[in-house]
Amino acid sequence: MEKDTQLLVIGAGPGGYSAAFAAAELGLKVTLVDKNSYLGGVCLHKGCIPSKTLLHAAKLIFESQDAGQYGLNFTKPTIDITKLRSFKDEVIKKLTSGLTFLCKKHKVTFIYGEASFIDSNTVNIQNNGANQNISFDKAIIATGSNPIKFPNIEFNEHIWDSTSALALNEIPENLLIVGGGYIGLELGTVYAALGSKVSVVELTDEILPGLDSDLVKIFKKRLKNIFANIWTNTKLLKVEKSANGLSVSLQDKEGKITNKEFNKVLISIGRKPDVQSLKLEKTKVSLDEKGFVKTNNKLQTNDPSIYAIGDITSGPLLAHKASMQGRIAAENIAGYEEFFNPKAIPACIYTDPEIATCGMSEIEAKIKNIDYSVINLPWLTSGKAVSLDRTDGLTKILVDTKTKKIIGVGIVGVGASEIISGMTIAIENIMDIKQ
Ligand code: FAD
Repeated sequence: MEKDTQLLVIGAGPGGYSAAFAAAELGLKVTLVDKNSYLGGVCLHKGCIPSKTLLHAAKLIFESQDAGQYGLNFTKPTIDITKLRSFKDEVIKKLTSGLTFLCKKHKVTFIYGEASFIDSNTVNIQNNGANQNISFDKAIIATGSNPIKFPNIEFNEHIWDSTSALALNEIPENLLIVGGGYIGLELGTVYAALGSKVSVVELTDEILPGLDSDLVKIFKKRLKNIFANIWTNTKLLKVEKSANGLSVSLQDKEGKITNKEFNKVLISIGRKPDVQSLKLEKTKVSLDEKGFVKTNNKLQTNDPSIYAIGDITSGPLLAHKASMQGRIAAENIAGYEEFFNPKAIPACIYTDPEIATCGMSEIEAKIKNIDYSVINLPWLTSGKAVSLDRTDGLTKILVDTKTKKIIGVGIVGVGASEIISGMTIAIENIMDIKQ
C-alpha cells in the first residue's frame, strides 16, 4: 500500500531541515514535522543564533574598553536592553522566514505537532488535541537535545536555563553560572559585558573539561578579568529563595560549605537527547548507555526504516554536525551510499578570546596511545595579533610522529573560529606538515 509520504523528518532544527531539503532536491516526497510552529530548532531559536548575536554585542563592548590602551577613549556604553532584545529577536525572525521560504521552495510539507511512533512505518501527530496518523517509507529522527536539570532544582524566573538567559529579560547585578562548559561561559561573557558581576562554579578541576589545559590556561587569564569568580572543584549543593534573591550553598574539594547570595542562577550542566515523546519502544530503534540513538555510519538505526541525526545521536552536539548528517541520511534514503566518518569536526567557543578545535586533542591522543608531537605557535610572533594588541593566543598543532600528518589543532585567541576551517580541511584531506 502506498504510504502518505516517502520520507518523514521529525524535528525541524538544522539536522531536520537540512535532511528535508536535501531529500526533496533528490526527488523524494518529504514531510517535516515539529512540535513548534516554526522551523529552525534549538540552534536558531534558543542556541547558536541568539547567543552569537548577543556575543557580537559583548565583543563591541570589550573592544571599546580595550581601545583606551592605544588612545581611543569611548565613554561607557548605555545599554538599551529592550532594543538589544528586539535586535536579537529580529535576527531570529529573518532567518526563520528564510527557512519557511526554502521549505515552500522545496515543496516540503510542514506539519506543526508532536510526533510519536505507532510502529516502524507510522507516526501519530498531536497538536492541541487534534490528531493525525502519517505513514512513511522512511523516517529521520532529528529531535535534538534539552538542557539537563539539576536534581531537586526547578527552572523558574530566578533559576535560569540557557533559554531563559537568552530571553534577555533583565541584566542581574549578580549572576552565578553553574557549569563551566562552553554554553555557560558564552552566556556569562554576554552578561559580564552587559554589566553583571558573573561567577562560575565548576565541579571538576578545570573549566571547559575535555579541552587541553594549555589552551584553557591562556583563555582563563583574560576570563579572570571579565568574571568576578571562577570556582573549580566546587559543588553546588542547593539554591533557596532569600530576601535579596537566591541563597546558594557551595561545597569545595575539602568539604567546606559556604553560602553566597545571587540575583539569578544559570544552570548549564550539559544537554541530553530529546527522545521522551517519541515512543521509540514501538520501533526497533535502540539507545546507547547515555540515551543517545544508536546508528551505523550511514546514520541508520537498528530499525531499517528509521535514521537518526544531530544532537539525538552521540558525538559533539553541534549544529553543523547535525546538518552534515542530515544531508548524508537523505542521500542514503534516496539510494546513494554515503558515510558519516569525519576526521575533524570543528568546534568553536565564541568567548573572549575564542577557542576553536578540530581533530584530536592532546588528551585524546594520549588516551589512544598515539605517538604524536606538538608544534606550538604562540601569538606573540603574529603580526596580526600584535597589531590588534591581542597576543593572548596560541595555535597548537598535533602531528602524527610517524606519518607527519596533522591529526589535531587547537587555537585560542581573537578570531580563532575563523582560522579553524582551514585546519579542518588540512586534517580531512590528510595533509602533512613541513618541518
Ligand atoms: P534541534 O536544533 O534541537 O532541533 C530539534 C527539533 O525537534 C526542535 O525544533 C524540537 O521542537 C523538535 N522536536 C523534538 N521532539 C519532537 C517531537 N516528538 N515531534 C516533533 N518535533 C519534535 N552549535 C553550534 O554548532 N555552534 C554554536 O555556536 C552553538 N551554540 C549553542 C548555544 C546554545 C545556548 C545552545 C543551547 C546550543 C548551541 N549549539 C551550537 C548547539 C546546537 O544548537 C545544536 O547542536 C543543534 O541545534 C542540534 O540540531 P538538531 O537538528 O539535532 O536539533
